[in-house]
Amino acid sequence: MKRRDFLKKAGIGVAASAAFGPVFAQAQPTVRWRLASSFPKSLDTIYGAAEVLAERVSTLTGGRFQIRPYQAGEIVPGLQVLDAVQQGTVEVGHTASYYYVGKNSAFAFDTALPFGFTARQQNAWFYHGGGIEATRPLYADFGLIQFPGGNTGAQMGGWFRKEIKSVDDLKGLKMRIPGLGGVVMSRLGVVPQTLAGGDIYPALERGTVDAAEWVGPYDDLKLGFYKVAKYYYYPGWWEPGPALVFIVNLKEWQKLPKEYQQAFEVAAAEANLSMVARYDAQNPKALQTLLQRGVRLRKFPNDVLKAAQKAAFELFEEEAAKNPLYKKVYTAWKKFREEQYRWFGVAELGYEQFAFPSV
Ligand code: CA
Repeated sequence: MKRRDFLKKAGIGVAASAAFGPVFAQAQPTVRWRLASSFPKSLDTIYGAAEVLAERVSTLTGGRFQIRPYQAGEIVPGLQVLDAVQQGTVEVGHTASYYYVGKNSAFAFDTALPFGFTARQQNAWFYHGGGIEATRPLYADFGLIQFPGGNTGAQMGGWFRKEIKSVDDLKGLKMRIPGLGGVVMSRLGVVPQTLAGGDIYPALERGTVDAAEWVGPYDDLKLGFYKVAKYYYYPGWWEPGPALVFIVNLKEWQKLPKEYQQAFEVAAAEANLSMVARYDAQNPKALQTLLQRGVRLRKFPNDVLKAAQKAAFELFEEEAAKNPLYKKVYTAWKKFREEQYRWFGVAELGYEQFAFPSV
């Protein structure tokens, strides 16, 4: 481009924005939303996604669209976030959709299914595999619309007071493991329990539970589980890449100016990416700290993994026979998963098996 042309174009640009800017600014209303999170502030990585969303939305709208996050329990308990958004108590929530499988089992797909997607595959499914569209009708039935809102990456298999050498060692074991993972575990003889984050440590300490899963090294270190259970198992096959969601009251969403909707979507996508990047940056150091404190790292035996995978897919098929919406999403999910696994088994796995140190 000639210099004179460039200056001319730049000049037009400045003139246009000077004329357009104030008009745009004055036309846009001030909007204030409240966000209910399912998580405590102390879990800064997972709770932090709501802060990333709020800050970016505010910046992108010149401070006109304000979202104020509240931690679990401040407005509603952590497991009632969907209900609060549905009822309009708050306009937006940040939660894990699989907390609500009791309302409809298809809510599992936006978080994780046992032996499902890794974080990257979950994003491939959401953004370019039809995943977001696949569950929109489910949310619409509840007067909601959803956006991907973070991912922890592959989770750990949790804390065990005794070593697990085969499926037999799981029989009668009381374990804190919610959701579909718990259902699959129950088919291997485990007695699953659902406990909120703050109740896990005392239960493990007292022996009310023999094992407990939470997230991964960074969060688990903070909760101190290593002090009361020495064996730290991997992988968390029930959550290979669990995602979080922002859920918005559909009527409130429809009231937003198009520019605010765009700002929200962009900010949600940033929060989605940022969470897994933060976990990936922080987990290695936390795992080293845990190992220095005497934690014994163990991989689940192959017979446990195989039995769990078999039980998981039996459960998925049973659910598909019961719930038409689940079946519709599951059929597409399963096909996408097979394609993803075939591809990731080539370049990614080939590289990782060679280059990553084994523990
Ligand atoms: Ca977990």
